Amino acid sequence: MTRTYAVTGSASGIGQATAALLRRRGHRVIGVDVRSGDVVADLSTPRGREEAVEGVLDEAGGRLDGIVANAGLALPVAATVAVNHFGTVALLDGLRPALACSRAPRAVATSSMATLMPVHAPLVEACLAGDEDLALAIATDLEAQGPEAGAVLYPSSKRALSRWVRREAPTSRWAGAGIPLNAVGPGIVRTPMVADMIATDAGRAGLAAAVPMPLNGYLEPEQVAALLAWLVSEENTHVCGQTIYVDGGSDVVLRGDDVWAWHDAVPTTTVTAAAIAATTGAPVREAVPAG
Ligand code: NAD
Repeated sequence: MTRTYAVTGSASGIGQATAALLRRRGHRVIGVDVRSGDVVADLSTPRGREEAVEGVLDEAGGRLDGIVANAGLALPVAATVAVNHFGTVALLDGLRPALACSRAPRAVATSSMATLMPVHAPLVEACLAGDEDLALAIATDLEAQGPEAGAVLYPSSKRALSRWVRREAPTSRWAGAGIPLNAVGPGIVRTPMVADMIATDAGRAGLAAAVPMPLNGYLEPEQVAALLAWLVSEENTHVCGQTIYVDGGSDVVLRGDDVWAWHDAVPTTTVTAAAIAATTGAPVREAVPAG
């Protein structure tokens, strides 16, 4: 079945590879980018985001099956926050109504393994509060302090994006409307975004410490595209709110095996019985100790 997709950042790297893959599979793709595409728009500004949404809706005749919100910047400047968080959220929110007519609507954002790096907490909170003025004021201040301080802008923008996806995905707007909303978290991908960094021994050594990738080394953009394409395909029915790390292992190396520790402070019996009751509707019963 031919589906219609909007793909942002389609002029380069992962977005270009995703658009090409979806087209090869027979789907229709409306590419959005500041450089070139079916819709040329600047996702760093509110006006540009409106133009992007209007342009896609015009091209699609108001009806979409999937959104791949992938455009991004990785510079130590405030615009990185504007594009990566606010541009992505505005596109997903603005195009969501067009998914209502689809039999199998899907949405995905490109986040990053950089979500696992240190972030600027007040900046992340300003993003999550939807306060772009405050977020950009904080970001502009960090940018003015130079590239070392500005380096926190990219991870902060991606942490905010992945947290927004987790917050939004289970709500009536997405899950309640039958729309799986997720993100991908790539490790280092060979695209123009990182070309300079991976061109030198010093750059590669710096990255190896921050982004350990024991499985198969750096990614090609096509390898991320394959996951994005699956997440917006009809096959994805129940993945909800996840940031799926496609990172050669950096998440597991950095976070270790116990990502379930949040559970441990709560008495197990209560959680288990209440959770079972909530999901099955069965009455809560005392757990019987084994043996
Ligand atoms: P890229 O630079 O090759 O492509 C990014 C695209 O986004 C470009 O075509 C660019 O024109 C577009 N874009 C940038 N600013 C824009 C704006 N204001 N309005 C509209 N379009 C804009 O980089 P890529 O590696 O393909 O990046 C794609 C996504 O993957 C980004 O969100 C990036 O943060 C993420 N990512 C990349 C890597 C990596 O190692 N390359 C790792 C993790 C996550």
